[in-house]
Parts: sequence; structure tokens; C-alpha cells
Amino acid sequence: MELRDWQKQLKDKVINAVKEGFLVALNSPTGSGKTLFSLLVGLNTKGKVIFVVRTHNEYFPVYRDVKKIDPSLKFSFVIGKPSACPFAAKDVDTEDINCKYCEIKNAIEVKIDKSPFEKLKELKENGIKEGFCPYYSLLESAKEADIITITYPYFFIEKYLSLLDINLEEYFIVIDEAHNIDKVSEIEERTLSEFILSMAIKQSKSEEVRRILDRLIKELKTLTYQDEKYIKLDKVPELSDEELSLLVDEYEELRKEAIKSKSVSRIYLGSVIRFYATYSTGNFIPFSFSNKIVLKTLELNQYYNLLNDENLSILLMSGTLPPKEYLEKVIGISRKILYINVEKEVKKKVTGSYQCKIAIDVTSKYDLRSEAMWKKYSSYLLKIYYQARNHVLAVFPSYQIMEKVMSYVNVNKILENEGTRIDDVIKIVKESRQKYIIAGVGRGKITEGVEITDNDRSLISDVVLVGVPYPPEDDYMKLLSKKISEKLGGKEKEYLIMIPALITVKQAIGRSIRNINDTALVWLLDKRYDSLWWKKNLNCFNSTKIRL
Ligand code: SF4
Repeated sequence: MELRDWQKQLKDKVINAVKEGFLVALNSPTGSGKTLFSLLVGLNTKGKVIFVVRTHNEYFPVYRDVKKIDPSLKFSFVIGKPSACPFAAKDVDTEDINCKYCEIKNAIEVKIDKSPFEKLKELKENGIKEGFCPYYSLLESAKEADIITITYPYFFIEKYLSLLDINLEEYFIVIDEAHNIDKVSEIEERTLSEFILSMAIKQSKSEEVRRILDRLIKELKTLTYQDEKYIKLDKVPELSDEELSLLVDEYEELRKEAIKSKSVSRIYLGSVIRFYATYSTGNFIPFSFSNKIVLKTLELNQYYNLLNDENLSILLMSGTLPPKEYLEKVIGISRKILYINVEKEVKKKVTGSYQCKIAIDVTSKYDLRSEAMWKKYSSYLLKIYYQARNHVLAVFPSYQIMEKVMSYVNVNKILENEGTRIDDVIKIVKESRQKYIIAGVGRGKITEGVEITDNDRSLISDVVLVGVPYPPEDDYMKLLSKKISEKLGGKEKEYLIMIPALITVKQAIGRSIRNINDTALVWLLDKRYDSLWWKKNLNCFNSTKIRL
């Protein structure tokens, strides 16, 4: 197998660093061949690899590259119950599935001889016919594999990691899309909303339970605000121990019934119970966000302990990895890090290129927001759409701004919302054969996950940043900043606001560059991009300034 130049040049350097106990951080663009590279390093150091990815969609490239390296290597993947259980609908929570009453709770040995998606489909069909559980079979089979592919919870969250029942020291651990590790705590966040409570009312049979839930809705409405930012709350709707135990009894009944009928859909009462269970740990603070209550934690270290375990061989990689100081100060990695920026190291481009245009007559700055500004943004979007040679990806700082601006844009468009599924977006765009504006919010599902390609080339020709996607300086940000301010040494704004925004922008740009031959236009629609910091970090010194 022929390696690319950068892979040949850096392979030994990374292998030696791993052997010397460094945590390696690899910043290399999308489409540059990171997956294959990291697998080779892993096989050359520990011989076995755990590949940690964000979503199940990312299992396939790992499988494909394992087969390229050596078809006899044993590949395996672990998938949570909501996707692996043949009786479950996809939106269920793991805990909604009560395996205790399941008739097919047996594990068989699984050989992955086709792509993960096809194999899972086959296992789910055969599981019912032949009486075995795909979830437990995949979990068991992973123990014997050379390469195990898992999602973030199975590495960062202790209760899921323990299910794997393996010795991590025996593996080389690759954490892919590692710019997301600052979001790991979100896996354990819990939300209480009017929608969840109303659905729980619909599903509950007990009059008493419905009465309690109804009261919770009323209290929730008095406590929350519609703003799309975290506003700290002093309390959550009250629920006595007695009331909670009534909810738990009802939930148990619903779980039992669901598995006996072999059809498990999401049981919303479970979400209510888990919200209160999480709140009672005392480690989570309630915030209002968009009329909901979200429990968030400031105790982030608990998620990153393994990264500091010097007995573990770890590679963090991403096309938009935050700088080394961010990994040390914000994530808290204290062990020695070898940080490699591939393009700087090999002094050449390893992927496609883009050209920047900066609009200096618009801004999403809070005090300059107005209907006139949204209209101006919409004019820009229309202009960009009509000149684009292919699809346009537009990224907004918030849903509210997206809706306002896009209400004036009447061309083919897809707007992200909470229920958006990436696969559906890709299907619509590919099947229609017409040009689209795909609109999403910074670090949302679309900006992070949409990959519209044909023959490995991106079909997104233009990326538009409508404003700067700074995270709001809300109560959560202030509390977090206070908690880690000592480590940040006065650079709170850079670490908690600027760098996260930069990662968002780079991720958005990355959607248009999936291959070394891809080229794109990047429209930075905010005068604040016309600064040395942004131009330097986006490599946009040759940008053109534009006005409407
Ligand atoms: S098949 Fe049965 S044992 Fe397996 S996850 Fe579903 S309910 Fe549980």
C-alpha cells in the first residue's frame, strides 16, 4: 500500500513519540488520510486499536481503511442499544430498553465481513429469527478484535466504558474529531421541556402521574426564558420523593410492557426521571435555554482523567484541532503532548484550498442587530447563491438569526432544526439535482456532519459565515470562565470565545474541502473578520474585501 508523502514523513516520528509516552495531537485537514495513518501507527505500536468517533456514520471509513491495510485484521464495532436492539425505535434512551424481560438475551460470536451498517442490518434481522441479541453479541465480539470502533460515550463516560470490559493499556487509542472533546460533558446533560412533559403525559396511564406532570409543566413555564442562551436558575420544578417514586413505578410498567410487546419507543417519563436523578447528584446546575431547563456541569475534569493516564497510548486528531495551550489549559491535559500540525510540519498543502471574501458592511454584533441588517444578509446570500457553481452552506450564530435572515431568502433551501437528520439533508440535496442553500447553526449537526460528495469531491462550492459564531457570553460561560480563570491567565476571551468560534468556522469551511482537488469560496460576512487574528488563523491574508 502506497502511503502519501506526509504519512511517510511523519509515521516514525509519531510512533517514537507514542513509545516515549507522549500524547500525540495531530492536526491534519479532512481528506488528508488521517484515519489510515492513525491505524498504521496503532498497529505498529500496540498492535491493537480502539478508534473513538463521534457518530456511527464514521465507522465506515475506519472499516474501509482496516480492510485496505490487511483484510485478515479483526475489525469490530460497538453500537448502543437504541441502534442495535431489533425491538427499539432509534429515538429511545438506552434505559428505556429493559433487557431483563427479553427472550433473546444471548450473545453469539460475530465476524464483521461487510460494512458496519450492512452488518448491523443483517444482525438485527437474524437476531430475531435465530434468537440472539445484536447488541450483546457486538459487545462480546469486540473483546477479541484487533480494531474496536466505538463512539465517545464508550470512552469518556465511565458507566459505558466499563461495559467494554477490556484493558485499555493493551490498545492504541485514537480519538477522532477531537475538536469535540470540549463537548463531552454534554453527553450527560439532561433536559426538561414542555414537549418532554407533554409526551410523558400522553404515554402515562396513571391519573396521578399525569396530574404531577401537568403541574411540572406549569412550574417550568414560570421558570424559563425563551432566549437562546444559558440563564442560571436557582431551582427546578419541585418534585417530592413520593411523587418521584410514583413516576418510577409507572416508568417500570411502561418499560416492561414495551419489551413484552417487542416494540420499544422512547418513553418520555424516563427522561423526566433521569433529569431529577441527575439534578440530585448535586454536580449539575440548572439553566434556562430556549424555554427548557438544561442541567449542565462545571466539573469537567472527570471526563478527561483518562487522557492524563500515562499508561495509555493516545492520539487526538482532527482537521480543526484546538491549539496545544487549549488542550492544556481548557481540557486540562497535563502529560507531555507532541502537537503536530501536518501542513506546517511537511511545509506543503495536503488537501484542497479556498479563497476568502470579507464583507465589511455587515455584522451580527449584538448592539447592531436589526431587521435592516438581516435583510442585508439575505441580499448577500441571494447574490452568493446565484453565482455559486454548486451548493451553498450558510452558517449562523443562532437559530433565531437563521430564521430571520432566511425568511427573506426564497430559493431552494434547507434549514436545520432540532429534529434534522443529516442523512435526510444529504438525500434531499442529492436527489433533487438542484442547487440549494443549506442553513445551519455553528457547531450544529449540519456544520459538523454534512458531507455532500460525489466521487469523493465536495458538492459544496461556497461556505457563508453569516456573522461570527461566537458562543454567547452567558451565565454558563461566566461560571466556567471563573472556575478555570487561574489556568487561563487572563486570556479567557481567547480560550472560551475566540478559539471555539474559530473551530466552528474551520469546521464549516471543511465541509467544502473533502479532497485535495476541492476548491471553495469562503464568504466571511462580518466586518470583525477583517482583523489580523482572524486572517492569520484562517490563513486568509489574500482575502478580498467586499460590500453589497
Ligand atoms: S435484543 Fe433483547 S437483550 Fe438485546 S438489547 Fe434488545 S431487549 Fe436487550
